This record gives sequence, structure tokens and C-alpha cells, in this order.
Amino acid sequence: MSLVRMVGQDHATRMALSWLKSGRVPHAILICGPEGTGKRALAMELTSALLCTEPGADACDECAACRQVKSLSHPDLHCLVPLSGGRQNQEEEAVEADMRAVAREYISGSRTGASTAGNISREHLRQLRRRMAYAPAQSSRRVAVILCAENMHPAGANSVLKILEEPPDQAVFVLVSAAPEQLLATIRSRCQRLVLRRLSSRDIAAQLAAEGFAAERAQLGVRMAEGSLERARQAGLGSLDETRARVERFMQAATEQDDAAYFTLVADLGARENRSELELFLKLCSLYLRDLFLLEHRCEELTSFPDKDHFLQQLRPVLSLSQVEAATTEVDRAVDYLARNINPGLVLADLWQCLRASDRRGGAGSRYRGQPLSDARPAGSVA
Ligand SMILES: [Zn+2]
Repeated sequence: MSLVRMVGQDHATRMALSWLKSGRVPHAILICGPEGTGKRALAMELTSALLCTEPGADACDECAACRQVKSLSHPDLHCLVPLSGGRQNQEEEAVEADMRAVAREYISGSRTGASTAGNISREHLRQLRRRMAYAPAQSSRRVAVILCAENMHPAGANSVLKILEEPPDQAVFVLVSAAPEQLLATIRSRCQRLVLRRLSSRDIAAQLAAEGFAAERAQLGVRMAEGSLERARQAGLGSLDETRARVERFMQAATEQDDAAYFTLVADLGARENRSELELFLKLCSLYLRDLFLLEHRCEELTSFPDKDHFLQQLRPVLSLSQVEAATTEVDRAVDYLARNINPGLVLADLWQCLRASDRRGGAGSRYRGQPLSDARPAGSVA
């Protein structure tokens, strides 16, 4: 890849290339835009272009420096990411290695979301500031890439601010954030922004086709994408299939009032270190519910999961439209609970109750009907 080959972000890539061509690269650049629009990829392409040893404004993608950037091993590249508490109090070398490992996960897309990632510590920001003041080891510049920049500890962010106020000639800071409004205003105001937009379905379809996805998988990717190429790729690669299967088990077990399955599923989801799996689970729940709604309204062509038609058709006689709507509200509420770090057992409890009520058929399963949603809990305590 190189800047010119980035998809659907012409405005940002043109601006970056104009800086590189003119040789007037800002000392502080803020790359912002919604999740999955290519912020991290752009940060790395820009870094390659800044450190590439071949002539030309853009990265050549082949020289030793470009390869070192790709593997995050370039001596003039410093990555900063939030590290979890236990990994913060280590020797500087160990921290640097950890940073690279976590940054690789962010850049490859296997780790997402700044909201649950913790702080970028004050000490790590001080270390970065110190390193950025040194002369470059190999290139004409030093580049600092700060991912999830909104997670910078305010005290540490102040020490970055000091270096941004009087930047050494060779230093370029690239901040990446999906929530730039959470950055200190004083830092924001010193950065030149590259703003990425949500990708159109056409951009995403073209990119997936160029990457060799089979037509059916590409179609699924485009439907799942919501402007995010990363999400489209995940769907296209089938890495969402495991979570889709889990959502289906959840919905089916709930409608069958199999409460034992609830605890198994919650234990499985809650056991994971970060919350992104539960986030994805809820996102997929909402898409399944949306599909049920669309099927009831005979809008098959708009569904997200045309390959799951059989499963959805099985649910239709069991779940009423009002239940589907109520469950959708419960998913939104669950997303809110999750953001407030509430126990996964409770996050999903109301959604489960809502789905298990089976008010379409009435009878024994209908006791949920008429109850306020927040009073409902699965049989037994899940707190
Ligand atoms: Zn190169």
C-alpha cells in the first residue's frame, strides 16, 4: 500500500501528499474519523512516506525503511498505545516491546476500540517526549504515532504539549483518534487535521473485489460494513461467523426458554479480557433483529444476513414484531450498560427476558408481557 492507493479518502490523502511534496510537513498531525475508516492505516502509510529512503513524496513500499515501518521496527518510529495496568511498570525496553506488540494488534485490526483500553500513562508520554528530542538514528526524521490518542493521561498530555509548542525540527507527531473532542483543546489546536469519512458501499465493494473476495462474501462484507472497511473485511473473511453462531444460540435458547444456556453464553462472553467481543455480539444482535423486522415488512433485499434466511424464518413465528422492537431497545440499553462497565450477566439479562417471553403464542411463556423491562431478570440471580 501507499498513500495514493488508500480507498475512498481522497481529501485526506491529497492533503498528506501535498505536505510531503512541498516538504512542509506539520509537526503535529491529528488523524480522526469514525472507527474502521482507515485512520491507523493512513497513519502508517504517512509514516512510511516520512521515513522512506527512496526519492518521491509517497512511500515506495519496498525499501528497507518501508519494511521496517511495516514491522514497526524502524528505529526512528515510536508507537504509543494504552497498555493495561500490569504492563505499565516495566523497564523502558520491555515497555517499548509491549507497545509494538499492542500497536501491531491495533494496526492489523485484531484489537479495536479506545473506550475500554485504559490510559496512555504519564510516564510513557514522558519517555516518548525524551526520545523525540534525540536526533534521528537512521532517517531525517523521528515519527511518533499515538494510537487511541484520546486516552492520553491529561498530565502526560501536558508534557506532549510542551514538545508540540517548541518541536525539534525532525519530530513529527501523528495522533490517531476516533474521539478527537476528548483531547485537550490545547493539543487539538496545535495539530493539523486529516479527517476521514465513512466509506460508501461502492468504495467498500470496489476494495473487497480488488482484494479478491468471492462475490457472496464481498456482498456480506458490504452489508455489514456501515462505512467501515475493517468491519467489511472481517465479515468477508468469515471472522464474524463464530460470533454470529453465538448470537443465534443466544436467540434460539432464549425463545426456547432454556435458561441454563444463558449462563453458559454469558460466562463465555464475559470471560474475555476486553469487551470488544461483547460489543460485537450486541452489534450483531441488533442486525439480526433488524433483519427480522425487515422480513416482517417484506424487505428481504435490505437484510444484513441473506445467508441466514433459514434461521431467521424459524424465529419469525416465535417472536412478535413488538418483541423484536422491544428487544432492539434492550440491545441499545445493553450497549449503554457495557459502556458503563456493568457485569455482562446484567448487560444481557433484559434482552434475554425480552426474547424468551414468546408473547406471540401466549401461554406459559408470556409472563414477561406487561412487565417493565428493567424489572425482568433471567430465572435465578445473574448479578
Ligand atoms: Zn521506501
